[in-house]
Amino acid sequence: QFIAGPTNAEVSEADRSRVFHSWSAQGALNPLPIAGGSGCMLWDFDGKQYLDFSSQLVNVTIGYQHPKVVAAIQRQADKLTTIAPAQANETRAKAAELITDIAPEGFNKVFFTNGGADAVENAIRMARLFTGRDKVISRYRSYHGNTGAAIVATGDWRRIPNEFARSHVHVFGPYLYRSEFWATSEREECERALHHLERVIQAEGPESIAAILLETIPGTAGIMPPPPGYLSGARQIADRYGILLILDEVMAGFGRTGEWLALDAYDVRPDLITFAKGVNSGYVPLGGVIISDPIAHHFDERVFPGGLTYSGHPLATASAIATIEAMREEKIVENAARIGADVIGPRLQEIAATREVVGDVRGKGVFWAIELVTNRDTKEPLGAPEMGKLKAGLLERGLLPFISDNRIHVVPPAIITADEAGRGLDIIDETLAAHRP
Ligand code: PLP
Repeated sequence: QFIAGPTNAEVSEADRSRVFHSWSAQGALNPLPIAGGSGCMLWDFDGKQYLDFSSQLVNVTIGYQHPKVVAAIQRQADKLTTIAPAQANETRAKAAELITDIAPEGFNKVFFTNGGADAVENAIRMARLFTGRDKVISRYRSYHGNTGAAIVATGDWRRIPNEFARSHVHVFGPYLYRSEFWATSEREECERALHHLERVIQAEGPESIAAILLETIPGTAGIMPPPPGYLSGARQIADRYGILLILDEVMAGFGRTGEWLALDAYDVRPDLITFAKGVNSGYVPLGGVIISDPIAHHFDERVFPGGLTYSGHPLATASAIATIEAMREEKIVENAARIGADVIGPRLQEIAATREVVGDVRGKGVFWAIELVTNRDTKEPLGAPEMGKLKAGLLERGLLPFISDNRIHVVPPAIITADEAGRGLDIIDETLAAHRP
């Protein structure tokens, strides 16, 4: 239903004059005006409709305005809109119970944060305090969030236990399409990436490394499902050197891959799991760390030197409860798996077979990437101006895409129907067909 109000032009002008946007030079910005949404659809202030193939920043897993989640937020707002983290609150405790139910056995505590970056910050802090070590190894092709200096800039006692050297080391992970290891098969890629990981650990000094931090399936960096054996191999290497394994499920978790957690599809057990986004589809900002028992017990007698004013905010945790319950009742995770296997996967293979500009397609559930290249042999990525033209073409045809570098990510809400998914994929195919270099 179109809600009358200001026009696109008015909203754009108001936005441009006052809002400072993320990750952008401000001058040339032209953010898409959005007035409302329902399910997988969004519309602007002039009434143009968009099928959402982005889930915003890959967070609106349950679609827009899910009535059960909206009602839960309203009920909680009537009851209690805010309460400090130090108090006991039944909504927060219930959300923690539902979240630990989803986690593997032996994960029984949740530390709540406001989003994904501070979930990662606190997971790293726990790993450093638990191991007494400093360095964190993560992948070059990864995204873990946008914070880092706040606690070190803090002046009171809370700074002191956090004053690590902040050492971060990066490795190349498995990515067969653009292998760094001259690999020609998933197996070679996996073995060589693990060898590289272990050699970097040895060269850095294993006793200095607190954690290996990996997105279970790297998301923004290109949706690269790890080959069989990579995550379990990383776990074995971590164990060999007394290093913790943190799996970042902020983007891949809570239904996106057709599993409750992306790690469920792999033979791997981390020590800490970070989450945000899909836990409540971002209806109210929420993230957190799911903590395995040994690490939780480590802090039974020791102070955990971390906290946030809004940790476990009641509106956020009420929406997480309603989201998880609705996802269970409506079998939304199963839907994501089915749509990925029956609709998106096969159709993307077809598109890849017919459209020269497609170099690779990969993913699962409602978590896919189409990698675009100027030449299939050299694999040269399609440039920013070309990607900009494709984006404009998709928007014009009524599809809101998620574009990252030379890729279109196919990441619709997990509630999407086969018809809607087919319609969106038709638009992508048509836009690629019309593309002229
Ligand atoms: N970790 C991963 C894997 C992410 O994809 C993101 C955001 O995209 C973050 C962490 C940071 O989350 P937030 O933007 O909620 O701080």
